[in-house]
Amino acid sequence: MEQNNFEQYELRAELLKALAEKGFSTPTPVQDRVLSEKIFEKDIIVRAKTGSGKTLAFLLPLLQKITAGERESKVLILSPTRELSQQIWKEAKWFGNYINVSAASLVGGMDMSQQIRSLRDGSAVVTGTPGRVLDHIRRGTLDTSGIKIVVLDEGDHMLDLGFKEELEAILDSLPNCQRVWLFSATMPAEIKNLAKRYLKTPVFISLTEEG
Ligand code: ADP
Ligand code: MG
Repeated sequence: MEQNNFEQYELRAELLKALAEKGFSTPTPVQDRVLSEKIFEKDIIVRAKTGSGKTLAFLLPLLQKITAGERESKVLILSPTRELSQQIWKEAKWFGNYINVSAASLVGGMDMSQQIRSLRDGSAVVTGTPGRVLDHIRRGTLDTSGIKIVVLDEGDHMLDLGFKEELEAILDSLPNCQRVWLFSATMPAEIKNLAKRYLKTPVFISLTEEG
């Protein structure tokens, strides 16, 4: 049998099975770097290009820690666009299926009542775009009290689209959040300022030449 190089990270057997069934046997460089870190003890900033495999770089460690059958919202993954967010949601659902962890998708332009229903059913993983996620927080339909980790995916892109205030409002309304994981292809001043404000002594992982 072909060697599965994901085995070196001590991932749950079900996640290794999911990776094998997806045909993924070798981690990408960003996945290797993130999976090699003791990521749960840290805030991290990851600088890596589009297409480098960032989704699984954060999804695998997140799913590794979520108890099977967990219904309380534990992790929040924010992305700039509906399409990107739904891609992450699909990946989270696919891998989550193997460990009985469900995911809710909160994106703009989609039916609100259906999102409210899926939140009421309870999902440990919540993915979404900043505007809609904030909308659910303000309406009280997303209970943020259990959220321990927030992932900011494509942080630079979210700020380019003008989501700074929404992001800050969301980050300010997570009373029990312990970790912020920031992924960004570039590191403009606005991203550094956001990181300075919300990340505690982050580990910086860079996969681009610019450093
Ligand atoms: P990014 O978020 O960095 O732009 P994605 O996470 O969307 O990248 O991944 C890009 C593509 O690579 C996706 O089609 C994904 O399914 C695929 N991919 C991710 N990890 C692996 C892997 N370890 N082996 C093979 N393909 C992978
Ligand atoms: Mg991505």
